[in-house]
Amino acid sequence: MRTVTAIIVCTAAAIAAGGGFAETMDAYPEEIRMVLDVTQPLEHDRGSRLPLYLWPARNPGALSEADAEALVRALDERGIGLYCSWTGDVEATLAQALPIARAQRELGLRVNVDATVPMHGFCDGTDATAHLDAEGQAFHDTSCAGAKLGCPYRLDHRIPVIRERIETLAAAYADEGLPIDFIFADWEIDGPIEWNDSHETAKRCAVCREHAPGLDDFLTYQHEVRAIRSRLQREAYALPLRRLFPDVLVGNYAVYPNDGWRYWYDYFERYLEGQPARVDQRARYRHWANEFTPTGYTFAMPVVYQWSPMYAWYDFASSDYRWFYNGLLVASNAGAHTPPDTPIIAFVHWHTVDLTQEGEEKPPQFSEEKYQELLWHMLLRGIDAFFLWSPVAEARKEVELLHPVYAAAQAYGAFLDEGVPISFDTPKAPGPVVSGLRLGDRVLVRRTDFTNDAAPVTIALPRGGSITVPRADGACAVIEVE
Ligand SMILES: [Zn+2]
Repeated sequence: MRTVTAIIVCTAAAIAAGGGFAETMDAYPEEIRMVLDVTQPLEHDRGSRLPLYLWPARNPGALSEADAEALVRALDERGIGLYCSWTGDVEATLAQALPIARAQRELGLRVNVDATVPMHGFCDGTDATAHLDAEGQAFHDTSCAGAKLGCPYRLDHRIPVIRERIETLAAAYADEGLPIDFIFADWEIDGPIEWNDSHETAKRCAVCREHAPGLDDFLTYQHEVRAIRSRLQREAYALPLRRLFPDVLVGNYAVYPNDGWRYWYDYFERYLEGQPARVDQRARYRHWANEFTPTGYTFAMPVVYQWSPMYAWYDFASSDYRWFYNGLLVASNAGAHTPPDTPIIAFVHWHTVDLTQEGEEKPPQFSEEKYQELLWHMLLRGIDAFFLWSPVAEARKEVELLHPVYAAAQAYGAFLDEGVPISFDTPKAPGPVVSGLRLGDRVLVRRTDFTNDAAPVTIALPRGGSITVPRADGACAVIEVE
């Protein structure tokens, strides 16, 4: 039986000989082979901390038990949690997922699942889910990337359909005595949404008119729509899973506790002039509902990407600080408002998500160095783990940048496990940025500078005492509390 150990030896030999991957690596998809090639085993034990989740480290195919265990073990040595995606083909889904889940259980690791596909289709595009005008004519809102979004008040019949998909697959694990420990979805343009033309569209709907109190007021409507959206996720997804697996980490892309504001826009969302917003230079931050608690989710999933339009929001002299600033705002928002016992697993991506139109100037790419600094600051502000999203063409570079930070951070396990963030402050101008985790009388700190300023920075700590932080580019320090 082929094993990953043997495969890696073969790969190293093949690379040394100037060749590509050894033929035996064919047992695994190309992207997984890339991950094994790019990453090294951890030098520091990661304890029981969450693994690193990588978009390319998923769906290995239907492997033999031995190949499954070898792969799970090889990725775990690197701190990476392999996950399997559920699809509409139950048999094929389980043929791939169950050998991996058995291996993960055998090795004492988390069983990880992607529930994106079965979650999709609350708004299935039919007239039964559509808005209805005064004459009873069905219509949809298509202003969010062309999806046929329906009426918030005509989606309840979809809950049992979606729930049944989730329960069927989850039961197959439970029947074998296998747990599901971590399950996420990338569920976005489905269900009720208030952005783009969605609100204006709802105002033309007789059903929305009848049911939505205060439909004409955007914030009232947002509150209502997000409550319905949360209920769909809770009843079809979060609760059925929590009933079967009480300790499961269940969550969804972009759903996380917050301060009532969202500091970024997804690719399908845009600001409409006149909507209430908080102004920060040219940025228009949006009101956001507390949708996390009513979903019943057990981990938070903020999104820290370099969306191209954000670059023009700010006029900081430091190009990198435009990206860094927004990323730190988003991460700090989640870190400051998520209860300490609720894990935060942040979606990250380094390459610019390019939403420029033809003829528009593309913004400069965030530097590799400052992106890695941002990752460190996220960890020191309460982000527990990262989830890399990446298109195939960008994946190798993304893993090359992300994995070393995750691996190096494991040297500070006690701080990551028990430390309390000392700051969620995001400086309004480029300068020294300090983040830290306090454990007793010591603070693990990271200072990142965006100017030539080398003067030490003194920071008063939330629970008393202070620390003085010298400039130390590219390094963490452990500092005694004064
Ligand atoms: Zn409606």
